[in-house]
Amino acid sequence: MLIDTHCHLDFKDFDDDFEAVLKRSRDSGIKFIINVGSSLEGTDRSVKIARENEFIYAAIGIHPHEADKVSEDDLKIFAEFINKPKVVAIGEIGLDYYKNISSRENQKKLFIGLLETAKAVKLPLIIHNRDSNEDTIGILKDIMGESVRGVMHCFSGDEAFLKICLDMGFFISFTCNITYKNAARLREIVKLVPMDRLLLETDAPFLAPQNFRGKRNEPMHVRYAAEEVAKIKGIDFDEVAKVTAENATGLFKLPKC
Ligand SMILES: [Zn+2]
Repeated sequence: MLIDTHCHLDFKDFDDDFEAVLKRSRDSGIKFIINVGSSLEGTDRSVKIARENEFIYAAIGIHPHEADKVSEDDLKIFAEFINKPKVVAIGEIGLDYYKNISSRENQKKLFIGLLETAKAVKLPLIIHNRDSNEDTIGILKDIMGESVRGVMHCFSGDEAFLKICLDMGFFISFTCNITYKNAARLREIVKLVPMDRLLLETDAPFLAPQNFRGKRNEPMHVRYAAEEVAKIKGIDFDEVAKVTAENATGLFKLPKC
């Protein structure tokens, strides 16, 4: 039994075969999916997908790439989604200084605005951080304090950053990119994450596993991430599935598996 804690089924990549993707997910043993909003529209669709599908839950967020387009009014609209049914997390939110699609100033402003909104509610955070370790942690500590309930999604940092995240209480989530031939450094990081802090995700439609590279990813492929973790840590696949599902269930308060 597996949980895909981060995917984007609201993207148009899934328009043609949405139901078939869900069926394959269920048939392959996916217990729950968390569909992660990454824009205001995506958040709206995420909540709708969760409402219509029993095994899917919603995270609500606005991705840093959107920051240049977001207005004060959008933040007010965003806040209204918090109390919708099956919303289990705020995310993905954060900073992305790798692609810099929006200006750093606007990214920080958006991140701060969303955290201010998140602070009042008891939902865990799903953080997107790329090449922005220092500002991400600085802003999180400023607003949320020294310890945070949440997950660093698609972890890409080094050992020192991992320690900072673990010390703050973060869960660490890996995608199928740990299966890539050139991901030796990332696999070393996987080794260092305690099992009781580890989560799995696909980030579908992105980051298809090694044997499917260049193709669209989908939730059933989360098993490749689990297999890789089992290999790296030298433990059974079933143990990885069980512990990561328990971690996800605890963090996002999903029904007990
Ligand atoms: Zn994502």
